[in-house]
Amino acid sequence: MNARLWIGTSWKMHKTIAEAEAYVGELTASPLLDRVEAFIVPPFTALAAVHRALGDAPVHLGAQTMHWQDEGAQTGEISPLMLRDCGVGIVELGHSERRASHGETDATVNAKVASALRHGLRPLICVGDQGDDLDAGASIETVLRQVKLAIKGIDTASLGRALIAYEPVWAIGEAGRPAEPAHVAEVHGALRAMLGQRGLAALPLLYGGSVDRANAGALTALANVDGLFVGRAAWTARGFEEVIEAAL
Ligand code: PGA
Repeated sequence: MNARLWIGTSWKMHKTIAEAEAYVGELTASPLLDRVEAFIVPPFTALAAVHRALGDAPVHLGAQTMHWQDEGAQTGEISPLMLRDCGVGIVELGHSERRASHGETDATVNAKVASALRHGLRPLICVGDQGDDLDAGASIETVLRQVKLAIKGIDTASLGRALIAYEPVWAIGEAGRPAEPAHVAEVHGALRAMLGQRGLAALPLLYGGSVDRANAGALTALANVDGLFVGRAAWTARGFEEVIEAAL
């Protein structure tokens, strides 16, 4: 692999400001950070504090979602301008938990991807098949469709900043079962081919869903896996470091 691996973690709805600062203090002592494109995705309430705590450490800061408008009567929402104001560089869009419980659709993901790029943010576009898709042999077509709709109408040059995470819904969280490397290889291969036809072969393709230190190495050994997006296993700084170590 020539390019550096992108390895990140979303903390989902976890960590107070004090807990976030303690995590960053521990993580930034790791010499492994210089060998990957590491990113952490705290809850909104900790973004500004984490940005300060990171200082010039080689860790990208991400947010878990955003609205596509710059400002407006959108109670409870966070705009791209607000994320920039907190020092955010990456924004996660379309995570399956947002799609399932918070009204995220292919159309809103598309609007958010365009908005993120307009504001100089790097969209991390999350896509994934359901268990039913897997059983029906429809994983690839489901995932390709989600990506095509997420990038619809957006020019290739600006999409060069995007990241894509393949996160099978059946592989995420406590109830999930980790995907087999052979399945990940197949889906990532199909994604790479489709993106290649659109001049986007260089977009980093991350895998997420029950990643841990035991399976990280087998996943990053795959030809079309350029990184990992980790939940539970990286909710401690030591856990994140162990995943990075296993992935390298
Ligand atoms: P998990 O979460 O690693 O805890 O399965 C992954 C995700 O939701 O991105």
